[in-house]
Amino acid sequence: MNELRKHYFLDRWVVVSSERANRPEQIEETHIQQKSCPFDRKNLKSPIFHKVGDPWEIAVIPNKFPAVDPQVSLSNRTGFLQSKGGFGMHEVVIDHPEHIKFQDFSDKHVTNLMGVYAQRTKAHMSDKRIEYVSVFRNEGAAAGASIAHPHSQILALPIVPRMIERERGKQDEYIHMFGENPFDKIYREEKRSPRFLFENSNFFAIAPFASVFPGETWIIAKRHVRTLFELTRDELSDFALALKKSIATLTRVFPGVSYNWGIHQAPRGRDFRLHLEIYPRLTKFAGFELSNDIYINTVPPESYAKEFREAVK
Ligand SMILES: [Zn+2]
Repeated sequence: MNELRKHYFLDRWVVVSSERANRPEQIEETHIQQKSCPFDRKNLKSPIFHKVGDPWEIAVIPNKFPAVDPQVSLSNRTGFLQSKGGFGMHEVVIDHPEHIKFQDFSDKHVTNLMGVYAQRTKAHMSDKRIEYVSVFRNEGAAAGASIAHPHSQILALPIVPRMIERERGKQDEYIHMFGENPFDKIYREEKRSPRFLFENSNFFAIAPFASVFPGETWIIAKRHVRTLFELTRDELSDFALALKKSIATLTRVFPGVSYNWGIHQAPRGRDFRLHLEIYPRLTKFAGFELSNDIYINTVPPESYAKEFREAVK
């Protein structure tokens, strides 16, 4: 079963996917029992949708346990219980042929990787049923990574995720009220704050004022770019290098830390400022966080930024 189900009265969607092999305890088992790596070149059996290099240096393949499925019809259930067929595309990007850490990829490699995300986003958005393309990466067991080989994921969805819709709606409200994009205001305010991490020609990085996670980092486009595929080659490179620098420094401040990051870009036909959010997974959420959607962060972003600036190379 692949279905997108909506909360009774909130704009909150859940992907219900009952692929047997994708059950949580099974993920743990595959993690532990893995003897040979399925993402190594010699073992890879999946079709390759897109690759860089020959033999490949980066390869895009279908996710074996997809949360959404291109074969499922996009049927709608309306009324009190709302749902849609779990239509969509779920891909794995094998980031690198070797088992090395993201921060050890070459500058050229991270730029190529960002280019792959951009090309896949463009390809998925050419399908009119797709409303949003989510690009994200899980690193380490505490961040939910079930395979050790460096990889990231792309989900093309027939809905706009709640987080994106909230950010986008509030961005528009802010522009309406104050006549400027909040991300431009963030740049001006935070550039001279103790939370500023660094900048390059096209992107800047901050530890956001209301960081939820210790070490949370945002990387924001200076120009008003909506999607990955609107970036120029120079901008793609600056984005990739800013991400590499953020991760390299994060892992120096917190050695061995698990983390997730996700790219936030514009949904179909909407305005939005491209940015990326990194969530280090040093703390576990429990009852207070889950029941109230309020988070307790024991490392102020100012403290993290100070440590970052001391550790940055
Ligand atoms: Zn491998």
